[in-house]
Amino acid sequence: MFKLVREMQTKIKKIVNLDELAAGHNKRKIIQQAIFTQLCQMLDPGKPSFTPKKGKPSVVMFVGLQGSGKTTTCTKYAYYHQKRGWKPALVCADTFRAGAFDQLKQNATKAKIPFYGSYMESDAVKIAVEGVETFKKENCDLIIVDTSGRHKQEAALFEEMRQVAEATKNLHMVPELSSNANFETRSCNIVMDSSIGQAAFDQAQAFKQSAAVGAVIVTKMDGHAKGGGALSAVAATKSPVIFIGTGEHMDEFEVFDVKPFVSRLLGMGDMIGFMDKIHEVVPMDKQPELLQKLSEGHFSLRIMYEQFQNILKMGPISQVFSMLPGFSAELMPKGREKDSQAKIKRYMTMMDSMTDEELDSSSTKFMNESRIIRIARGSGHQVREVMEMLEEYKRLAKIWSNMKGLKIPKKGEMNPQ
Ligand code: GDP
Repeated sequence: MFKLVREMQTKIKKIVNLDELAAGHNKRKIIQQAIFTQLCQMLDPGKPSFTPKKGKPSVVMFVGLQGSGKTTTCTKYAYYHQKRGWKPALVCADTFRAGAFDQLKQNATKAKIPFYGSYMESDAVKIAVEGVETFKKENCDLIIVDTSGRHKQEAALFEEMRQVAEATKNLHMVPELSSNANFETRSCNIVMDSSIGQAAFDQAQAFKQSAAVGAVIVTKMDGHAKGGGALSAVAATKSPVIFIGTGEHMDEFEVFDVKPFVSRLLGMGDMIGFMDKIHEVVPMDKQPELLQKLSEGHFSLRIMYEQFQNILKMGPISQVFSMLPGFSAELMPKGREKDSQAKIKRYMTMMDSMTDEELDSSSTKFMNESRIIRIARGSGHQVREVMEMLEEYKRLAKIWSNMKGLKIPKKGEMNPQ
């Protein structure tokens, strides 16, 4: 870590020669921009991440420390790909932790993803091989192998992990499989808790030595930790971060996006660019009130309504969305801007049928059946749609509540985008 900081200092000094800066330059802004750019570069190992190919078997192994969220992330990864047309399967090669198989089985069943494991067998390598073979025969194209979580010190478990990696690598040597011309490609994801901090470099390096780690997934980004360990993990494994976990549920999983991640890391919030936009379009007298509420973590339905209004006013909608935490991936998939715009308008019509009390509360607890039916009738929408809108609100409220205490930049203070 120390080395990383030193390298960064040197690079920044090179970029920002303070003595030579002409008077009148905003030094703070220039330094901040240099740091921002530098951190973005550090998170880019310069090599593309592995994307499993549809229709061809890929084996992706998951490694990580106990409790990092590895098993949960295996299912999230499977579910994410299943929703996008892959045929995933889960193999529980975690024979170390009692209950790991049950946990994976439960998650897999919930997501309707086939799984393989054994209560009796203690040989993780054997299970991994059998599981992968089984699912290849079933034409699954994304076979996810969950391994035992471990601490750095546990040499025996690292050896087991190495063997699992080795065994699944050599599967195409198995005669009946080698007749299949579609040899599998493989990858290994390391799962890291966002709060790991200083220890990240050593841990990631230890994993890298035993398995060909190809990508990093940072979990629990919905908590207070900023995920700085990701920088070390990228440096230690020379692999990109590909996803972040943002909650305990299966769908709380997002494609890694470097700019918001670095903004959050620097405590600048994810919405600097967005705030500049707000300054442009929200009437001056409304600004302090809105920004105050956001920094207090108070995200009511009315605020969501106002955000929607702003979004519709702001012009290139995709650009605005990409700056707003939580709004981009789910609400507005790329290339579907028109649909998203229509959805926002629909949600707004529903909110038009709400009372002031409903709009100003920062909880949906009291939104009982009769209120939902009333809103649906009043706005000419289905009950299902109102519930969907409330779910969307809850999702956003959760993300925005993490922005509590955020220092909101003043107009034009900085814009590293
Ligand atoms: P493993 O020991 O690494 O397999 O960890 P688990 O998958 O059992 O996860 C440990 C705990 O972390 C469980 O309670 C999970 O629900 C929780 N968890 C995993 N990912 C996330 C996340 O992204 N956000 C939050 N809040 N909790 C998570």
